[in-house]
Amino acid sequence: MSSQKPLLSIVVPVYNEEGNIEALHSRLTAALPHLPYEIIYVNDGSQDRSLALLVQLSQSDSRVKYIDFSRNFGHQMALSAGAQASRGEYTVFIDGDGQDPPELIPELLAKAQEGYEVVYAQRKSRAGETWLKRYTAKQFYRLLSRITQVPIPVDTGDFRIIHQKVRDVLNSMPEQHKYLRGQIAWIGFQQTALEYDRQERMSGHTKFSYRRMLRFALDGISGFSTWPLKVATLSGFLVSGIAFMLILYSLYQKFFGNTEPGWTSLHISVLFLGGIQLLGIGILGEYLGRVSDNVKNRPGYIVRDSNVSDEE
Ligand code: UDP
Ligand code: MG
Repeated sequence: MSSQKPLLSIVVPVYNEEGNIEALHSRLTAALPHLPYEIIYVNDGSQDRSLALLVQLSQSDSRVKYIDFSRNFGHQMALSAGAQASRGEYTVFIDGDGQDPPELIPELLAKAQEGYEVVYAQRKSRAGETWLKRYTAKQFYRLLSRITQVPIPVDTGDFRIIHQKVRDVLNSMPEQHKYLRGQIAWIGFQQTALEYDRQERMSGHTKFSYRRMLRFALDGISGFSTWPLKVATLSGFLVSGIAFMLILYSLYQKFFGNTEPGWTSLHISVLFLGGIQLLGIGILGEYLGRVSDNVKNRPGYIVRDSNVSDEE
C-alpha cells in the first residue's frame, strides 16, 4: 500500500495537541473506511507529548507519516510542509483540534470528483469561539475580498481538498509569508464551496492570539492587495491639497489680514501631517519587511525528523 500512490493525503498541523491527537485520529480513520489514504501529521514545534503520540501512531500504521519541525514555524508552514510531502491524487488540509470535522472529508472528495480541483469548506456557523473572534474574522474576510484583485472566498479557513494539479502549483510558490487560502484562490482552476458547521475544539485552547491573528491578517492583505499603498498615496494627495490651501490662506492673512500668533492651527497641522506621514511610512515598512524576508530566501521551515521518505 505504501509504495502505491494513495488517493488522499490528509495533512494535519499539530501544535501542542496532545489532548486531541488520539481522538482526531480515530475520527479520521473511521471517516475513511474504504479509501486509500495517507495521513501526514506535521508537528510544529510542540512542547507537549504530541510528537511521541504521532510517532506511536506511525509505528502501528504505515499509512501514518509525521514530519517534526525543529521549532514552531506556524500553521501555514506546517500545511505547506504537508503539501510538499503529499503523494496522493488529492490533498486535504484539516486542523488537528477537531474543529474541522473529519466526517466531512468523504463529501469534500465526492464533490471534488464531480470535477472541481478545489473544494473549500465554508463555515455556516462557528461554535466555541468568542464573539470578538467571530466578528473580527467576519469583517476581515469581507474587507479582504473587497480589496484584493482575486476574490478570496469569505468565511473559509484552510479546511479543504485540493487536486494534485493545484498542489503542484502551490508547492512551487516560494513566498515566505504564506496565506494559503489566498494563494489557492489566486491559482484558479474550478473551485467550489461546501458548507459546514465549525465545531468546538475537542480540548486545549486556540494557538492564535489577537496579535498573531493581526500578523496573519496583514500577510493576507499585503500578499494579495496593494490597496494600503494606494490609500497612503491618496491621503498624501489629499493632505497636500489641504496644505496648499492653508498656505494660500496664511499668505492672505499675512498681507491682508492680521497675523495673530496662530498656535492652535500650527499645532493641529503639524500633528496631522506627522500622523499621515508616519502612516505612509508604516505601510511601506509592512511591504518592505516582507520583500526583505523574501530576498533572504531562507527555507520556510526546517525538518528535524520525519518518516516520510522512508519507503521511497
Ligand atoms: N497550529 C500549528 N502551529 C501554530 C499554531 C497552530 O500547527 O503555530 C495548528 C493547531 O495545532 C491546530 C491548527 O493549527 O491544529 C489550528 O490552530 P488553532 O486551533 O489554534 O486555531 P483556531 O482554530 O483557533 O483559528
Ligand atoms: Mg482551532
